[in-house]
Amino acid sequence: MLILECPYCGVKAEETELTAGGEAHLKRYGPGSSDDEFEGYLFTRENPMGVHFERWRHSNGCGKWFHAARSTTTLEVFGTYSAQTTEPPQEIKDKISARHPGWSWRDQS
Ligand SMILES: [Zn+2]
Repeated sequence: MLILECPYCGVKAEETELTAGGEAHLKRYGPGSSDDEFEGYLFTRENPMGVHFERWRHSNGCGKWFHAARSTTTLEVFGTYSAQTTEPPQEIKDKISARHPGWSWRDQS
């Protein structure tokens, strides 16, 4: 079972206490963007075998949204952090790089 620590209240919550919110760090497109950009924002998602960044809500706890970095193959959790960030904290990126040599954060902005 997936267990994530809520970065706000510190509770180690089981997956049943959380609500999945899909991929994190999406670049949003709005008025003035091209149809292709908006279509990509609405429908295109990564589905990696490995490191993935996701949005989760502590729905049966404090109710706040946060981000989690984890491996989709091993379910190893590299860390959780505030949803009000545009990229993972350096500490989490370092932890991922240590476990997955050659991995690097992709700039989505
Ligand atoms: Zn919480």
